[in-house]
Amino acid sequence: MIILKSKEEIFLMRKAGKIAAETMKLIKKAIRPGVETIYLDKIAEKFILSQGARPSFKGYRGFPFSICTSLNEEVVHGIPSHRRLKEGDIIKIDLGVEVDGYNGDLASSFPVGKVSEEAFRLIRVTKEALEMGISQCIPGNHLSDISYAIQSHTEKNGYSVVRQFVGHGIGQAIHEDPQIPNFGTPGKGPRLEEGMVFALEPMVNLGQSEVEILSDNWTVVTCDRKLSAHFEHTVAITSHGPLILTA
Ligand code: MG
Repeated sequence: MIILKSKEEIFLMRKAGKIAAETMKLIKKAIRPGVETIYLDKIAEKFILSQGARPSFKGYRGFPFSICTSLNEEVVHGIPSHRRLKEGDIIKIDLGVEVDGYNGDLASSFPVGKVSEEAFRLIRVTKEALEMGISQCIPGNHLSDISYAIQSHTEKNGYSVVRQFVGHGIGQAIHEDPQIPNFGTPGKGPRLEEGMVFALEPMVNLGQSEVEILSDNWTVVTCDRKLSAHFEHTVAITSHGPLILTA
């Protein structure tokens, strides 16, 4: 069941989204060669708590940290560690913030120092795919119009979308109905209505779409070990169109 949110609830979700966006900005500033991914987690947790908020991911199904840090061929759910960033890496940061009982979910991909042209283009196309999905968040559209927009932009650029992990509804829970695949044919699924709030999150692979989970039971990697990028925003559907809450 898709839970519709009132204007007041969307206002609270905007608060969570803003803290998430500010956290991401702090992390972005700290990303450089030599930095340990666990340091990024510490900065994030400290800031989120200082805002009277809670990192939604910490303790979620036993996840031990406040953010996910996924490098290069890691797609999502990478665990912060003492591993150091290297020049040429791409890092994906995924974070959730809960405040006043409502959540915001946000992910971005960043180059570490100077990266290959290939890596840079992958990041750009993934970000554009998210923007294409967001542009479909209009009352009256179908859910799969979002999926189709993301998939077609990705594949037109020669990349593939991950199929095993999907976007989702969000509100008082970090994961709510519906599931929002990053692939599909247009015109299918429920009609979008004012008050729906979605976390759209294309995961785009340079090579094949297949992914697997490492033995740590969290880290998702591409099977061909080629690069992957990820962007996510929490978006409310309003009568004026999409409202990005994590901007
Ligand atoms: Mg998410």
